[in-house]
Amino acid sequence: MIIVMKPDSQEAQIKEISNVLESLGLGIHISKGTERTIIGVIGDKRVLSDVPIELMPGVEKLVPIVESFKLAGKTFKPEPSVIDVNGVKIGGKELVIMAGPCAVESREQIIEAAQAVKKSGAQFLRGGAYKPRTSPYAFQGLEEEGLKLLKEAKDATGLLVITEVTSEKAVEVADKYVEMFQIGARNVQNFQLLREIGRSKKPVLFKRGPSTTIDEWLNAAEYIMSEGNYNVVLCERGIRTFETATRNTLDLSAVPVVKNLSHLPIIVDPSHAAGKVQYVAPLSKAAIASGADGLIVEVHPNPRCALSDAAQQLTPENFDNLCKDISKIAEVLGREFKYDAK
Ligand code: PEP
Ligand code: MN
Repeated sequence: MIIVMKPDSQEAQIKEISNVLESLGLGIHISKGTERTIIGVIGDKRVLSDVPIELMPGVEKLVPIVESFKLAGKTFKPEPSVIDVNGVKIGGKELVIMAGPCAVESREQIIEAAQAVKKSGAQFLRGGAYKPRTSPYAFQGLEEEGLKLLKEAKDATGLLVITEVTSEKAVEVADKYVEMFQIGARNVQNFQLLREIGRSKKPVLFKRGPSTTIDEWLNAAEYIMSEGNYNVVLCERGIRTFETATRNTLDLSAVPVVKNLSHLPIIVDPSHAAGKVQYVAPLSKAAIASGADGLIVEVHPNPRCALSDAAQQLTPENFDNLCKDISKIAEVLGREFKYDAK
């Protein structure tokens, strides 16, 4: 249920209602919009049967939430959320591009990748230090050593850093080095990990699983948000279908569908969807045209020698061309992307 406050409601009235709800053991989540404040109520509403909340001063109406996800839904918060990561705003007018190699492999590789993607206008450097590989014998990532290298690349370029965390331990370690966590497709329903991320409060890029419906995905986001972390950015990265020409099938309908159901920003990962370098640029451009708030793209200084996902990583040159095109598409859509290549 949500409590919609009157446009002229007072802070003291919101406080009084919050106190009543908390004294009954209910969880509350307050969303302050431009026009009015909404109080989301989480817990067993039967305790409210004898408490006429709708008669309390400042209350306009009570609205039941029919969707199983609440905090992630638009009923709770009708205006789009803009997630601020150290001054870079995801979900606003400006498109946000995160780029870098699949995995951090060496100092030289990550610094070179960072300098290249920065030059083309990316705001974030991506790079995996904990790699969830299909085979346990494949390269598993440099772990904390990789995080230190990401930090060096950040210090050298000023880019923000995003990296995947695969366990509660990894969350604890990565917290010291990066500005944003990534939850990968394989962990979309690892609810313990999601709760841990929820408690950390650090912004998180939350990927869709290869076989997760949009409803399941938004419910999974609710695990993070219900612990108090509202800094969630969704990421469509392709789902598993009968098609084998691409690694996954990029479900671009997820972009408008999510925008219709949720206030959370959504970006697209064309690299893991395509699995093949030649499809990455067309899918990226289509993703932006469909309304995505940005992209996360794999870029490697020397893709052929990459230790993971070699077939799908763009060269810095291809990435630069893509960014140039994205800045043109952004203009048509009334959005912004600063393509900075000299
Ligand atoms: C990745 O971003 O490197 C990755 C493993 O992606 P996904 O979780 O989408 O497979
Ligand atoms: Mn990868």
